[in-house]
Amino acid sequence: PRSPITVLGLGAMGRAFTREFLGGGHPTTVWNRTPGKDGELVAAGAAAAATIGEAVRASRLVVVCLLDHRSVHEALDPVAGALEGRAVVNLTSTTPDEARELAAWAKGHGIDYLDGGIMATPDMIGQPPASLLYSGSRTVFDEHGPALRLLGSADYFGEDAGLASLYDFALLAGMYLMFAGFSHGAAMMRSAGVPAAEFAERAVPWLTAMAQTIPFGTTAVDTGDYTTDVQSLDFNKAAVDAIVRASRDAGVGLDAIAPVKALIDRQVADGHGAESFNRIFEGLKPVSAPP
Ligand code: NDP
Repeated sequence: PRSPITVLGLGAMGRAFTREFLGGGHPTTVWNRTPGKDGELVAAGAAAAATIGEAVRASRLVVVCLLDHRSVHEALDPVAGALEGRAVVNLTSTTPDEARELAAWAKGHGIDYLDGGIMATPDMIGQPPASLLYSGSRTVFDEHGPALRLLGSADYFGEDAGLASLYDFALLAGMYLMFAGFSHGAAMMRSAGVPAAEFAERAVPWLTAMAQTIPFGTTAVDTGDYTTDVQSLDFNKAAVDAIVRASRDAGVGLDAIAPVKALIDRQVADGHGAESFNRIFEGLKPVSAPP
C-alpha cells in the first residue's frame, strides 16, 4: 500500500491534488475550513476529517494549499503540536520571505518543511505540462518525491525555502509582462478594427519565436559586458519611440509600453546607446545583490 497523505484546503488546487493522490493509490485524508467541499472526493475514496487535528494525525505527509501566507498560519498554528515530526509540503503561493518565515516557524516546532510553487492551473495538475517547483527540506523532497510527481514534474532548488517561490514569481513576472504586451498590441489593432483573435494568430508564433532568442542575451546579463555589433540601444530607442508615437496616434494607453521606454531612455541617457538592449537589466537589478 502507498503512504497516506493529508490534503489541507479543498480549493480548486487542493481538490485536483486529492484526485491525483487517490489515483496514485495513496490513502488520502482531506480537510477544508468550510465544510461541504469534499463530497466528490469522498465518493472517489478520500477520507473526510472532521477537524484539522484529525486530518493532520492521519498522515506523515501533510500537503497544504490555502489562499495565502496568513491563511496557512491561521490553519496550522493551532495544530503545530500535532504536526511535530511530520512533513509539511506547502504549495500555497507565498512570497520568498513568507516561505522562509514559515520554514523557520516549522523548524521551531520540529516540523519538516518543504515549500513549493505551482506552475499550472488546476485542470493541468497531473498532466505533463504541469511543473511544480520545490525548495526547503531535501529529506521531504527525496522521501515523498514519487507522490509529489503525481501532481506534475517536480524540481528541487535547495534548502532555502524561499527559492521555489522566487522562481515561481520571477516566471510569473515574465508571463504578466508578456500578456500586458499582448493587450497593448491588441489595443493597437483595435484602432483598425482587427479582432484580438485575429491578432493572436500572428502574436503567438511571433512571441514564441522571440522567446527562443532569450538565451542569446544571458551571457551579457551575467558578465555585464553589453557590447554588441547587432541591434544597439540607440536602434531600440528609435523603434520603441516609434511604437509609442504609433500607439498615441491610435489612441492606445501608454501604461504598458512606457516603462519599457523609460528603461531604454535611462541607459541611453547614461551614455550606453551603443550597447545592447539587454543593458536595461542594469536599471532593474538589486544594487546589493551578488554580481
Ligand atoms: P481557491 O480560492 O479555490 O481555494 C482557497 C482555499 O483556501 C479554500 O480551500 C479556502 O477555504 C482556503 N482558505 C482561505 N483562507 C483560509 C483560512 N484563513 N484558513 C483555512 N483555509 C483557508 O484557491 P486555489 O485552490 O485555486 O489556490 C490555492 C493556492 O494555490 C493559492 O495560494 C494560489 O495562489 C495557488 N495557485 C493557484 C493557481 C490556480 O490557477 N488556481 C495556480 C498556481 C498557484 P474555504 O473553502 O473555507 O474558503
